[in-house]
Amino acid sequence: MQPAQDNTQNTKFQQPTKPHYKNKNSERAAVWNKKFIEKRRARMAVWRGDNVEKNRAYQRKYKVKLKNLILNHYGRECACCGEDHIEFLCLDHLDGNGNQHRKATGNKGGHQFYQWVVNNNYPEGLRILCHNCNQSLNIWGYCPHNKL
Ligand SMILES: [Zn+2]
Ligand SMILES: [Zn+2]
Repeated sequence: MQPAQDNTQNTKFQQPTKPHYKNKNSERAAVWNKKFIEKRRARMAVWRGDNVEKNRAYQRKYKVKLKNLILNHYGRECACCGEDHIEFLCLDHLDGNGNQHRKATGNKGGHQFYQWVVNNNYPEGLRILCHNCNQSLNIWGYCPHNKL
């Protein structure tokens, strides 16, 4: 706790080493400015915190919408095992050259690839797999379900 008399002290006497301003107005403006910058900084921190959440929620909505568009076109279940939880499903290249394809289209994969598919009117040669079947086919060249 600070003594009560501190509140009545002028900031210019507390910091005598500070450069002198041309007149009282600019001196007051400088003090006000400093307060304003601090307030704005605090406000911005709150704003950023809020927006991270909003942005995250927006991104999630956008990705779900995109995925539903894809699934509505290519089918809503794994072509191998029939898994139908959309959280587990992904888009697979029938010819297994997903990486070359993604490189050729300039996409990094994930929802950017989904967006590319939607923008390009759902090209041929793609199918829906669950991540298990997709990974197994990519790494082992077959799926233990033995359906593909
Ligand atoms: Zn599957
Ligand atoms: Zn499978």
